[in-house]
Amino acid sequence: MNYFLTPEQEMIRDLARKLADEKVAPVRAELDEKEEFPWEIMRLCAGAGLFGVSIEEAYGGFGGGELENCLAVEELSRVCLGVSVSYAASGLGAHPIMLYGNPEQKNKYLPDIAKGKRLAAFGLTEAGAGSDASAIRTTAIKKGDGYVINGTKQWITNGGEAEIYTIIAMTDKSKGPRGASAFIVEKETPGFEFGKKEKKLGIRASATRELVFQDCYVPKENLVAREGMGFIVTMRTFDRTRPGVGAQGVGVAQGALEEAVRYAREREQFGKKIISFQAVQHLLADMATQVEAARALIYSVARYIDGEENPREISKVSGMAKVFASDVAMKVTVDAVQIFGGYGYMREYPVEKMMRDAKILQIYEGTNQI
Ligand SMILES: Cc1cc2nc3c(=O)[nH]c(=O)nc-3n(C[C@H](O)[C@H](O)[C@H](O)COP(=O)(O)OP(=O)(O)OC[C@H]3O[C@@H](n4cnc5c(N)ncnc54)[C@H](O)[C@@H]3O)c2cc1C
Repeated sequence: MNYFLTPEQEMIRDLARKLADEKVAPVRAELDEKEEFPWEIMRLCAGAGLFGVSIEEAYGGFGGGELENCLAVEELSRVCLGVSVSYAASGLGAHPIMLYGNPEQKNKYLPDIAKGKRLAAFGLTEAGAGSDASAIRTTAIKKGDGYVINGTKQWITNGGEAEIYTIIAMTDKSKGPRGASAFIVEKETPGFEFGKKEKKLGIRASATRELVFQDCYVPKENLVAREGMGFIVTMRTFDRTRPGVGAQGVGVAQGALEEAVRYAREREQFGKKIISFQAVQHLLADMATQVEAARALIYSVARYIDGEENPREISKVSGMAKVFASDVAMKVTVDAVQIFGGYGYMREYPVEKMMRDAKILQIYEGTNQI
């Protein structure tokens, strides 16, 4: 399909595709097996300028929007979702600063994030507060010229690896959801530690850790937007990053489809290539149709967000994009395993990993039910 990308957008897509094919594909199985954070790949992404694709030029970025981000994410996800989420989570952590940071905060943090010099992360979830984000118990109490943060965030992508964290804490519990605020906390801040690294079903190259705050003091300059705006910052961030989760879905589904087609052309049963059986053709045709439909929706939504000053339907359509593409990713990766038969269940082939990886897309950044 021709999506009428600009030469710059094609360049970003091709750059990410080349990096994924040449540098990620050879190591993805090992990274998954060892559950190892892909630092080498992150450095290559940094060198290629990929961390800055949707950050303003004034802060060292390329000046693109959500479509540019989706293109890079899709290509990395086509090869390895564990790698692509580590990349995308830095963008998630950067978005509150991009959207609501003041000039000083933008100057201080965005150039390093754009260059990939420092990774970012976003911390909202807690043990008792997942879908119901308003149940968070982490507090940030005003003291002197700053705030003292106490509490524990759970399952934070890039936790322990990132150096810049945007977190949500209650500054005034009596106000309920209107009492939450967003803060930037840097690694190495006294009182800020990390819990154990989680062992996961998929995206095993990515790091998922607890963030533990014990009397962690941050200056008032680290408050993002105003007190009480924490959930607005969060929701406006997700509005813009959910199409990126959809792009992860398009990528992993595209990767699984390509593997399935390649395998069906090689594998012989009953004296014929299995691709000659109509039942296999039907599966492949349905997979290809779903991937293209998901891609068309993601690109349209990303373009809509980038093209309007005030995209009124943003929450609805970015949610639709995330739900649709993540469901496609789950279905297509399961069908890819089916086309591989028993070999699809074995770790020698990449599709079992793609199937394990795809599941997270229906869960994080708001479950598909939410
Ligand atoms: C690998 C991984 C990485 C993550 N990375 C991050 C991160 O970087 N930052 C971060 O802040 N969080 C992160 N999360 C947390 C993630 O966003 C939450 O897991 C998710 O929002 C769901 O919350 P929960 O797991 O507590 O499920 P729950 O909210 O307990 O939901 C359990 C089930 O109930 C359903 N449910 C809940 N409420 C409703 C409702 N009102 N209507 C219908 N159904 C409902 C859900 O859909 C789900 O099926 C990550 C999670 C994982 C597993």
